[in-house]
Amino acid sequence: MQESSLKTLEQVRMYSIPISDARVRELVTWYLNTLQRAIDIIWESIEWRYVFPKIEKRKGKLRVVAPYKVKVPELPKSRSFKKKLRDELLKNCPYAKHWVDAVIRTAYSIVESWRKRYVKGKARKAKPKVKRRFARCKITLMRVDYERKAIRITLKPGEYLEVSWAGRWFTKRVDGWRVGEVVLKDDRILIPFKTTKIIEVKNVVAWDSNELSLDGFSQSLGFVKVDLRPLQSMKIVYEKKKAIAQSRGKREVYEKYVKRERNRERDFVNRLAKGLAVLFSNSVHVFEDLDKEDLISREKAPKSRRKRNARTPWKLIQRKLSEKALVVKVSPRNTSRTCPRCGFVVKTQVGRVFKCPECGFKLDRQKLASINIYLRYAKMRGLPHSNDPDTWMKGELWVGVTLSGGSPVIWAPMKRSPEGSEPKGRGIHIKPHKHL
Ligand SMILES: [Zn+2]
Repeated sequence: MQESSLKTLEQVRMYSIPISDARVRELVTWYLNTLQRAIDIIWESIEWRYVFPKIEKRKGKLRVVAPYKVKVPELPKSRSFKKKLRDELLKNCPYAKHWVDAVIRTAYSIVESWRKRYVKGKARKAKPKVKRRFARCKITLMRVDYERKAIRITLKPGEYLEVSWAGRWFTKRVDGWRVGEVVLKDDRILIPFKTTKIIEVKNVVAWDSNELSLDGFSQSLGFVKVDLRPLQSMKIVYEKKKAIAQSRGKREVYEKYVKRERNRERDFVNRLAKGLAVLFSNSVHVFEDLDKEDLISREKAPKSRRKRNARTPWKLIQRKLSEKALVVKVSPRNTSRTCPRCGFVVKTQVGRVFKCPECGFKLDRQKLASINIYLRYAKMRGLPHSNDPDTWMKGELWVGVTLSGGSPVIWAPMKRSPEGSEPKGRGIHIKPHKHL
Protein backbone atom coordinates (compact mmCIF):
# COMPACT_ATOMS: atom_id res chain seq x y z
CA MET A 1 0.00 0.00 0.00
CA GLN A 2 1.23 3.45 -0.76
CA GLU A 3 0.17 6.50 1.09
CA SER A 4 1.34 9.74 -0.34
CA SER A 5 0.47 12.88 1.52
CA LEU A 6 2.14 15.79 3.22
CA LYS A 7 2.10 15.92 6.99
CA THR A 8 3.69 18.35 9.37
CA LEU A 9 5.77 17.13 12.25
CA GLU A 10 5.94 19.51 15.19
CA GLN A 11 9.18 19.21 17.05
CA VAL A 12 9.87 20.73 20.44
CA ARG A 13 13.10 20.58 22.35
CA MET A 14 13.40 21.95 25.83
CA TYR A 15 16.71 23.24 27.08
CA SER A 16 17.59 24.91 30.32
CA ILE A 17 20.12 27.61 31.08
CA PRO A 18 21.22 28.29 34.64
CA ILE A 19 20.64 31.81 35.92
CA SER A 20 21.59 33.45 39.13
CA ASP A 21 19.51 36.56 39.66
CA ALA A 22 17.73 37.56 42.87
CA ARG A 23 15.05 39.30 40.81
CA VAL A 24 14.00 35.97 39.30
CA ARG A 25 13.57 34.38 42.72
CA GLU A 26 11.47 37.36 43.80
CA LEU A 27 9.34 37.12 40.67
CA VAL A 28 8.81 33.38 41.17
CA THR A 29 7.69 34.01 44.78
CA TRP A 30 5.24 36.70 43.65
CA TYR A 31 4.00 34.46 40.83
CA LEU A 32 3.38 31.55 43.20
CA ASN A 33 1.42 33.67 45.67
CA THR A 34 -0.58 35.45 42.98
CA LEU A 35 -1.32 32.18 41.22
CA GLN A 36 -2.71 30.66 44.40
CA ARG A 37 -4.83 33.78 44.99
CA ALA A 38 -6.19 33.57 41.43
CA ILE A 39 -7.06 29.90 41.98
CA ASP A 40 -8.77 30.79 45.29
CA ILE A 41 -10.91 33.44 43.61
CA ILE A 42 -11.87 31.21 40.68
CA TRP A 43 -12.61 28.34 43.10
CA GLU A 44 -15.02 30.47 45.15
CA SER A 45 -16.94 31.39 42.02
CA ILE A 46 -17.38 27.87 40.69
CA GLU A 47 -21.03 27.02 40.09
CA TRP A 48 -22.20 23.53 40.85
CA ARG A 49 -24.89 22.34 38.52
CA TYR A 50 -26.89 19.12 38.64
CA VAL A 51 -26.64 16.62 35.82
CA PHE A 52 -29.48 14.09 35.81
CA PRO A 53 -29.26 10.42 34.83
CA LYS A 54 -29.40 10.12 31.11
CA ILE A 55 -29.26 7.42 28.45
CA GLU A 56 -28.51 8.44 24.90
CA LYS A 57 -28.95 6.67 21.63
CA ARG A 58 -25.92 6.99 19.40
CA LYS A 59 -25.46 5.14 16.13
CA GLY A 60 -28.36 2.91 17.13
CA LYS A 61 -26.68 1.93 20.42
CA LEU A 62 -27.85 2.91 23.86
CA ARG A 63 -25.18 4.63 25.94
CA VAL A 64 -25.24 5.72 29.55
CA VAL A 65 -24.20 9.38 29.64
CA ALA A 66 -24.73 9.94 33.34
CA PRO A 67 -25.42 6.90 35.50
CA TYR A 68 -26.90 8.87 38.42
CA LYS A 69 -27.64 12.42 39.56
CA VAL A 70 -24.33 14.24 39.94
CA LYS A 71 -23.15 17.74 40.71
CA VAL A 72 -20.78 19.10 38.09
CA PRO A 73 -18.53 22.14 38.57
CA GLU A 74 -18.61 24.99 36.07
CA LEU A 75 -15.83 27.57 36.02
CA PRO A 76 -16.67 31.29 35.96
CA LYS A 77 -15.83 32.53 32.49
CA SER A 78 -17.79 35.74 31.99
CA ARG A 79 -15.99 38.87 30.89
CA SER A 80 -17.08 40.77 33.97
CA PHE A 81 -15.69 38.06 36.25
CA LYS A 82 -12.38 37.99 34.44
CA LYS A 83 -12.09 41.77 34.60
CA LYS A 84 -12.81 41.76 38.34
CA LEU A 85 -10.21 39.03 38.84
CA ARG A 86 -7.61 40.93 36.83
CA ASP A 87 -8.28 44.21 38.67
CA GLU A 88 -8.01 42.42 41.99
CA LEU A 89 -4.65 40.82 41.13
CA LEU A 90 -3.29 44.07 39.69
CA LYS A 91 -3.64 45.80 43.08
CA ASN A 92 -0.12 46.41 44.41
CA CYS A 93 1.42 44.41 41.57
CA PRO A 94 5.00 45.57 41.04
CA TYR A 95 5.42 43.65 37.78
CA ALA A 96 4.38 44.30 34.20
CA LYS A 97 0.63 43.79 33.69
CA HIS A 98 1.20 40.93 31.29
CA TRP A 99 2.56 38.89 34.21
CA VAL A 100 -0.92 39.08 35.79
CA ASP A 101 -2.40 37.80 32.53
CA ALA A 102 0.14 34.98 32.53
CA VAL A 103 -0.91 34.10 36.10
CA ILE A 104 -4.62 34.12 35.18
CA ARG A 105 -4.09 31.85 32.22
CA THR A 106 -2.08 29.38 34.31
CA ALA A 107 -4.69 29.48 37.10
CA TYR A 108 -7.48 28.63 34.66
CA SER A 109 -5.55 25.76 33.16
CA ILE A 110 -4.83 24.31 36.62
CA VAL A 111 -8.47 24.56 37.75
CA GLU A 112 -9.70 23.28 34.39
CA SER A 113 -7.49 20.20 34.56
CA TRP A 114 -8.74 19.58 38.11
CA ARG A 115 -12.35 19.91 36.79
CA LYS A 116 -11.75 17.34 34.06
CA ARG A 117 -10.23 14.87 36.49
CA TYR A 118 -13.05 15.49 39.00
CA VAL A 119 -15.76 14.82 36.42
CA LYS A 120 -14.04 11.55 35.53
CA GLY A 121 -13.92 10.61 39.20
CA LYS A 122 -10.15 10.88 39.35
CA ALA A 123 -9.88 13.86 41.72
CA ARG A 124 -11.44 14.80 45.04
CA LYS A 125 -13.45 17.95 45.61
CA ALA A 126 -10.44 19.84 46.89
CA LYS A 127 -9.01 23.16 45.81
CA PRO A 128 -5.77 22.81 43.84
CA LYS A 129 -2.71 23.94 45.76
CA VAL A 130 0.35 25.19 43.91
CA LYS A 131 3.59 23.82 45.28
CA ARG A 132 6.13 23.94 42.50
CA ARG A 133 8.06 27.16 42.19
CA PHE A 134 7.89 28.41 38.60
CA ALA A 135 6.71 31.36 36.54
CA ARG A 136 5.30 30.67 33.11
CA CYS A 137 5.98 33.60 30.81
CA LYS A 138 3.77 35.01 28.06
CA ILE A 139 5.01 35.64 24.55
CA THR A 140 3.99 39.31 24.95
CA LEU A 141 6.59 39.63 27.71
CA MET A 142 9.37 38.33 25.53
CA ARG A 143 11.46 39.76 22.77
CA VAL A 144 13.63 37.28 20.94
CA ASP A 145 16.68 38.36 18.98
CA TYR A 146 17.53 35.40 16.74
CA GLU A 147 20.60 37.15 15.38
CA ARG A 148 22.20 37.47 18.79
CA LYS A 149 20.40 34.37 20.14
CA ALA A 150 19.07 36.31 23.09
CA ILE A 151 15.75 36.54 24.90
CA ARG A 152 14.75 39.73 26.69
CA ILE A 153 12.02 39.26 29.28
CA THR A 154 10.13 42.21 30.71
CA LEU A 155 10.01 42.04 34.50
CA LYS A 156 8.72 45.49 35.35
CA PRO A 157 8.00 48.38 32.97
CA GLY A 158 11.50 49.38 31.83
CA GLU A 159 13.23 46.53 33.69
CA TYR A 160 14.44 43.47 31.84
CA LEU A 161 16.10 40.12 32.22
CA GLU A 162 18.28 38.99 29.35
CA VAL A 163 19.27 35.41 28.64
CA SER A 164 21.34 34.22 25.71
CA TRP A 165 21.66 30.75 24.24
CA ALA A 166 24.67 31.64 22.11
CA GLY A 167 27.58 29.25 22.59
CA ARG A 168 25.57 26.71 24.60
CA TRP A 169 26.05 22.99 24.02
CA PHE A 170 22.68 22.77 22.26
CA THR A 171 22.99 25.95 20.14
CA LYS A 172 23.64 24.03 16.93
CA ARG A 173 20.74 21.68 17.53
CA VAL A 174 18.19 24.47 17.50
CA ASP A 175 19.61 26.50 14.65
CA GLY A 176 16.71 28.05 12.77
CA TRP A 177 14.13 26.99 15.37
CA ARG A 178 11.59 29.36 17.00
CA VAL A 179 11.52 30.13 20.70
CA GLY A 180 8.28 29.40 22.57
CA GLU A 181 7.08 30.59 25.97
CA VAL A 182 9.78 30.20 28.57
CA VAL A 183 9.40 29.04 32.14
CA LEU A 184 11.42 30.68 34.89
CA LYS A 185 12.61 28.67 37.85
CA ASP A 186 14.56 29.95 40.86
CA ASP A 187 17.91 29.06 39.36
CA ARG A 188 17.27 28.42 35.68
CA ILE A 189 15.22 29.22 32.65
CA LEU A 190 13.56 26.55 30.51
CA ILE A 191 13.37 27.44 26.85
CA PRO A 192 11.24 25.45 24.41
CA PHE A 193 12.56 25.55 20.86
CA LYS A 194 10.06 24.65 18.16
CA THR A 195 10.15 23.77 14.52
CA THR A 196 7.81 22.24 12.00
CA LYS A 197 8.99 19.84 9.39
CA ILE A 198 6.95 18.92 6.33
CA ILE A 199 7.13 15.20 5.72
CA GLU A 200 6.01 13.57 2.52
CA VAL A 201 4.51 10.33 3.72
CA LYS A 202 5.20 7.47 1.34
CA ASN A 203 5.19 4.50 3.61
CA VAL A 204 3.49 3.08 6.71
CA VAL A 205 5.26 0.83 9.22
CA ALA A 206 3.32 -0.84 12.01
CA TRP A 207 5.25 -1.89 15.12
CA ASP A 208 4.44 -4.53 17.67
CA SER A 209 6.38 -4.49 20.88
CA ASN A 210 7.77 -7.72 22.16
CA GLU A 211 10.25 -8.34 24.91
CA LEU A 212 13.20 -9.22 22.73
CA SER A 213 12.28 -7.52 19.51
CA LEU A 214 10.37 -4.75 17.88
CA ASP A 215 8.39 -6.44 15.13
CA GLY A 216 7.40 -4.28 12.24
CA PHE A 217 5.29 -4.71 9.17
CA SER A 218 4.95 -2.62 6.08
CA GLN A 219 3.15 -3.65 2.94
CA SER A 220 5.95 -2.41 0.73
CA LEU A 221 8.81 -3.92 2.77
CA GLY A 222 7.37 -6.96 4.42
CA PHE A 223 8.43 -7.80 7.95
CA VAL A 224 11.09 -5.93 9.87
CA LYS A 225 12.67 -7.22 13.02
CA VAL A 226 14.55 -4.93 15.35
CA ASP A 227 16.69 -6.92 17.70
CA LEU A 228 16.39 -5.74 21.29
CA ARG A 229 18.56 -8.44 22.83
CA PRO A 230 21.55 -6.14 23.37
CA LEU A 231 19.29 -3.89 25.46
CA GLN A 232 17.91 -6.83 27.41
CA SER A 233 21.29 -8.37 28.17
CA MET A 234 22.59 -4.99 29.31
CA LYS A 235 19.60 -4.69 31.66
CA ILE A 236 20.07 -8.22 32.98
CA VAL A 237 23.70 -7.45 33.80
CA TYR A 238 22.63 -4.35 35.75
CA GLU A 239 19.86 -6.26 37.52
CA LYS A 240 22.49 -8.68 38.84
CA LYS A 241 24.84 -5.89 39.84
CA LYS A 242 22.02 -4.04 41.62
CA ALA A 243 20.94 -7.21 43.43
CA ILE A 244 24.47 -7.80 44.71
CA ALA A 245 24.85 -4.19 45.85
CA GLN A 246 21.49 -4.40 47.61
CA SER A 247 22.25 -7.67 49.36
CA ARG A 248 25.47 -6.15 50.70
CA GLY A 249 23.62 -3.04 51.81
CA LYS A 250 25.69 -0.76 49.63
CA ARG A 251 23.17 1.91 48.85
CA GLU A 252 25.52 4.26 47.06
CA VAL A 253 26.79 1.54 44.75
CA TYR A 254 23.21 0.53 44.07
CA GLU A 255 22.24 4.12 43.16
CA LYS A 256 25.25 4.33 40.89
CA TYR A 257 24.10 1.26 38.97
CA VAL A 258 20.54 2.59 38.71
CA LYS A 259 21.86 5.77 37.18
CA ARG A 260 24.22 4.00 34.80
CA GLU A 261 21.55 1.60 33.65
CA ARG A 262 19.18 4.48 32.96
CA ASN A 263 21.83 6.32 30.96
CA ARG A 264 22.67 3.31 28.86
CA GLU A 265 19.00 2.58 28.27
CA ARG A 266 18.39 6.15 27.15
CA ASP A 267 21.41 6.00 24.93
CA PHE A 268 20.13 2.82 23.31
CA VAL A 269 16.62 4.22 22.83
CA ASN A 270 17.92 7.48 21.37
CA ARG A 271 20.06 5.59 18.92
CA LEU A 272 17.21 3.27 18.01
CA ALA A 273 14.74 6.13 17.46
CA LYS A 274 17.24 8.04 15.39
CA GLY A 275 18.06 4.96 13.33
CA LEU A 276 14.41 4.09 12.67
CA ALA A 277 13.66 7.68 11.65
CA VAL A 278 16.51 7.55 9.13
CA LEU A 279 15.91 4.01 7.86
CA PHE A 280 12.19 4.60 7.42
CA SER A 281 12.17 8.20 6.35
CA ASN A 282 8.95 9.51 4.83
CA SER A 283 7.03 7.04 6.97
CA VAL A 284 4.21 6.98 9.46
CA HIS A 285 5.07 4.72 12.38
CA VAL A 286 2.02 3.02 13.87
CA PHE A 287 2.09 1.72 17.45
CA GLU A 288 -0.40 0.32 19.87
CA ASP A 289 -1.73 2.85 22.34
CA LEU A 290 -0.13 1.51 25.49
CA ASP A 291 -2.22 3.74 27.75
CA LYS A 292 -5.34 2.11 26.41
CA GLU A 293 -3.89 -1.31 27.09
CA ASP A 294 -4.28 -0.69 30.81
CA LEU A 295 -8.02 -0.36 30.35
CA ILE A 296 -8.33 -3.83 28.93
CA SER A 297 -8.96 -6.31 31.70
CA ARG A 298 -5.93 -8.20 32.92
CA GLU A 299 -7.46 -11.61 32.28
CA LYS A 300 -7.75 -10.84 28.61
CA ALA A 301 -4.20 -9.61 28.17
CA PRO A 302 -2.01 -12.60 27.43
CA LYS A 303 0.82 -13.30 29.82
CA SER A 304 3.50 -12.67 27.23
CA ARG A 305 2.20 -9.17 26.61
CA ARG A 306 2.02 -8.32 30.28
CA LYS A 307 5.58 -9.50 30.66
CA ARG A 308 6.93 -7.52 27.76
CA ASN A 309 6.44 -4.16 29.39
CA ALA A 310 8.35 -5.13 32.48
CA ARG A 311 11.80 -4.71 31.00
CA THR A 312 11.36 -2.96 27.67
CA PRO A 313 11.02 0.83 27.84
CA TRP A 314 8.13 0.96 25.37
CA LYS A 315 6.73 4.35 26.16
CA LEU A 316 10.20 5.86 26.02
CA ILE A 317 10.80 4.34 22.57
CA GLN A 318 7.48 5.70 21.30
CA ARG A 319 8.13 9.13 22.77
CA LYS A 320 11.66 9.38 21.42
CA LEU A 321 10.59 8.25 17.96
CA SER A 322 7.70 10.74 17.94
CA GLU A 323 10.25 13.53 18.39
CA LYS A 324 11.89 12.51 15.14
CA ALA A 325 9.18 10.92 13.01
CA LEU A 326 5.41 10.78 12.61
CA VAL A 327 3.92 8.42 15.17
CA VAL A 328 0.28 7.35 15.25
CA LYS A 329 -1.34 5.16 17.90
CA VAL A 330 -4.15 2.68 17.43
CA SER A 331 -6.19 0.61 19.87
CA PRO A 332 -4.38 -2.55 21.03
CA ARG A 333 -7.60 -4.56 21.32
CA ASN A 334 -7.22 -8.15 20.08
CA THR A 335 -4.24 -7.38 17.86
CA SER A 336 -2.61 -10.65 18.92
CA ARG A 337 -5.74 -12.75 18.48
CA THR A 338 -7.35 -11.60 15.25
CA CYS A 339 -6.95 -13.33 11.92
CA PRO A 340 -5.80 -10.67 9.45
CA ARG A 341 -7.34 -12.51 6.53
CA CYS A 342 -10.89 -13.21 7.72
CA GLY A 343 -11.15 -11.16 10.92
CA PHE A 344 -11.92 -14.10 13.20
CA VAL A 345 -10.97 -13.53 16.85
CA VAL A 346 -9.35 -16.59 18.37
CA LYS A 347 -10.15 -17.25 22.05
CA THR A 348 -7.16 -19.22 23.26
CA GLN A 349 -3.65 -19.06 21.92
CA VAL A 350 -1.02 -21.73 22.22
CA GLY A 351 2.21 -22.36 20.42
CA ARG A 352 4.32 -19.96 18.43
CA VAL A 353 2.31 -20.26 15.23
CA PHE A 354 -1.07 -18.63 14.90
CA LYS A 355 -3.57 -20.75 13.03
CA CYS A 356 -7.00 -19.45 12.15
CA PRO A 357 -9.70 -22.11 12.79
CA GLU A 358 -11.99 -20.34 10.31
CA CYS A 359 -9.86 -19.91 7.20
CA GLY A 360 -6.70 -21.83 7.99
CA PHE A 361 -4.39 -18.82 7.76
CA LYS A 362 -1.03 -19.48 9.41
CA LEU A 363 1.58 -17.06 10.70
CA ASP A 364 4.33 -16.79 13.29
CA ARG A 365 2.54 -15.28 16.25
CA GLN A 366 5.24 -12.65 16.76
CA LYS A 367 4.35 -11.20 13.39
CA LEU A 368 0.60 -11.37 13.77
CA ALA A 369 0.11 -8.26 15.86
CA SER A 370 2.14 -6.04 13.56
CA ILE A 371 -0.04 -6.97 10.57
CA ASN A 372 -3.19 -6.31 12.60
CA ILE A 373 -1.85 -2.98 13.82
CA TYR A 374 -1.06 -2.14 10.22
CA LEU A 375 -4.54 -3.11 9.01
CA ARG A 376 -6.17 -1.17 11.82
CA TYR A 377 -4.41 1.99 10.70
CA ALA A 378 -5.09 1.32 7.01
CA LYS A 379 -8.81 0.84 7.67
CA MET A 380 -8.97 3.90 9.90
CA ARG A 381 -7.42 6.04 7.20
CA GLY A 382 -9.40 4.42 4.42
CA LEU A 383 -6.20 3.35 2.69
CA PRO A 384 -6.29 0.64 0.09
CA HIS A 385 -4.79 -2.56 1.47
CA SER A 386 -4.47 -6.09 0.36
CA ASN A 387 -6.28 -8.88 2.17
CA ASP A 388 -4.20 -11.45 0.40
CA PRO A 389 -1.51 -12.58 2.85
CA ASP A 390 0.66 -13.98 0.09
CA THR A 391 1.52 -10.46 -1.00
CA TRP A 392 2.69 -9.68 2.56
CA MET A 393 5.39 -12.27 2.77
CA LYS A 394 8.35 -10.53 1.31
CA GLY A 395 10.93 -11.93 3.62
CA GLU A 396 12.24 -10.10 6.56
CA LEU A 397 14.66 -7.31 7.28
CA TRP A 398 16.71 -7.52 10.40
CA VAL A 399 17.74 -4.32 12.11
CA GLY A 400 20.18 -4.32 14.94
CA VAL A 401 21.36 -1.59 17.27
CA THR A 402 24.76 -2.07 18.76
CA LEU A 403 25.39 -0.41 22.08
CA SER A 404 28.92 0.63 21.40
CA GLY A 405 28.80 1.32 17.68
CA GLY A 406 27.33 4.11 15.65
CA SER A 407 24.09 3.91 13.69
CA PRO A 408 21.86 0.85 13.53
CA VAL A 409 22.70 -1.72 10.96
CA ILE A 410 20.15 -3.20 8.67
CA TRP A 411 20.56 -6.89 8.00
CA ALA A 412 20.08 -8.37 4.58
CA PRO A 413 16.50 -9.15 3.68
CA MET A 414 15.89 -12.85 3.92
CA LYS A 415 13.23 -14.88 2.21
CA ARG A 416 11.74 -17.26 4.69
CA SER A 417 8.51 -19.13 5.20
CA PRO A 418 6.06 -17.04 7.23
CA GLU A 419 5.99 -19.68 9.96
CA GLY A 420 9.75 -19.66 10.17
CA SER A 421 11.57 -18.54 13.25
CA GLU A 422 15.13 -17.27 13.03
CA PRO A 423 16.91 -16.64 9.78
CA LYS A 424 19.96 -18.81 9.18
CA GLY A 425 23.07 -16.77 9.63
CA ARG A 426 23.07 -13.10 10.20
CA GLY A 427 23.29 -11.79 6.65
CA ILE A 428 25.50 -8.99 5.47
CA HIS A 429 25.69 -5.50 6.83
CA ILE A 430 24.11 -2.97 4.54
CA LYS A 431 24.38 0.73 5.04
CA PRO A 432 21.00 2.34 5.78
CA HIS A 433 19.14 3.14 2.59
CA LYS A 434 17.58 6.55 2.23
CA HIS A 435 14.90 5.33 -0.13
CA LEU A 436 13.49 2.67 2.20
ZN1 LIG B 1 -8.98 -16.45 9.26
